[in-house]
Amino acid sequence: MIEVIRTIGDAGRRMADFRRKALSIGLVPTMGALHDGHLSLIGRARADNDRVVVSIFVNPTQYDDPEDLERYPRTLAADLEKAEAAGADLVIHPAPEDIYHDGYRFRVTESAFSRELEGAHRKGHFDGVLTVVLKLLNIVRADRAYFGEKDWQQLLLVRDMAAAFFVATEIVACPIVREADGLAMSSRNVHLAPEERVLAPEFHRILQTGASTEDMHRQLVEAGFGVDYVAKRGDRILGAVRLGKVRLIDNVQH
Ligand code: AMP
Repeated sequence: MIEVIRTIGDAGRRMADFRRKALSIGLVPTMGALHDGHLSLIGRARADNDRVVVSIFVNPTQYDDPEDLERYPRTLAADLEKAEAAGADLVIHPAPEDIYHDGYRFRVTESAFSRELEGAHRKGHFDGVLTVVLKLLNIVRADRAYFGEKDWQQLLLVRDMAAAFFVATEIVACPIVREADGLAMSSRNVHLAPEERVLAPEFHRILQTGASTEDMHRQLVEAGFGVDYVAKRGDRILGAVRLGKVRLIDNVQH
């Protein structure tokens, strides 16, 4: 059975142990409910490092909707099996009181890009994300940390934060893993009702049409999605839509 570390103190000691033995460390931060998207990050970390550490922490500060936090799937026993099978050496599963022993008195705030797109629709979301990621980076002090392009805005913000604070860990981007029908894998997909699951891949299909963002927005609404945004940034088209109570995000290169 894979080793599970539940306190920050134990995690720090274990990591120091690895460093003393000159073992390189790869960190894969997750909120659990692991699927093949997460497992691809673990696989990449396995290929690059001597030791692979997965954190499983449903981060309360990145939710502006208590119901979303409440409903987030928690499947620790299955996650441990999957993480081990994918090549993880240990899992860090800390308590919120341990991570936020300061009561979230100190937080990382980015004042530009984090206000757009996801940030415009989820108040305080990226403060919560960046704060917990910086804490995890400081606890583990990994050589590399792995983030999915699925959360494109998050990836760019984490990368810029690491540069801004001279974090020694290299931030590694990993491609989006999709279901056979194109739907980006997400822990929230389990909440899609059968008819919503049938419609969901249309989101990715429409993002790929090469139409204007206004036109894609219109096509999505006509298909039955609630649309939070469709926007171009750099070489990406990013979107967020709602199907019933489930919110989906995705992005494609254009
Ligand atoms: P989460 O557990 O949703 O916070 O995701 C943990 C990490 O897995 C983040 O870096 C995500 O971007 C990444 N991830 C989630 N879904 C996918 C996916 N379908 N493909 C690639 N990476 C993903």
